[in-house]
Amino acid sequence: MLKRNRPRVEDTPENYAKCLCYTERCPTYNRSSLTGGLFCARGRSEKTIEKKGCVCPSCPVWGACKLNGVFFCVYGAA
Ligand code: SF4
Repeated sequence: MLKRNRPRVEDTPENYAKCLCYTERCPTYNRSSLTGGLFCARGRSEKTIEKKGCVCPSCPVWGACKLNGVFFCVYGAA
């Protein structure tokens, strides 16, 4: 029987609180109609997004989960 892999990033209130997406630091988020956050766990936004830069590599979740991607809001969960 196949074991289900754990997600790279858990969708928890603790991780959401650390997420930088919805702060003033993310130029893409702040120049778009994005809502929510923790896209590395929850997946990409349904909205059309113009990329203006990504703060994910500065995020404590990114480091703690050893992520290597960016623009999870555009490309989907880690
Ligand atoms: S790595 Fe990016 S998407 Fe994930 S919590 Fe941090 S800022 Fe949000």
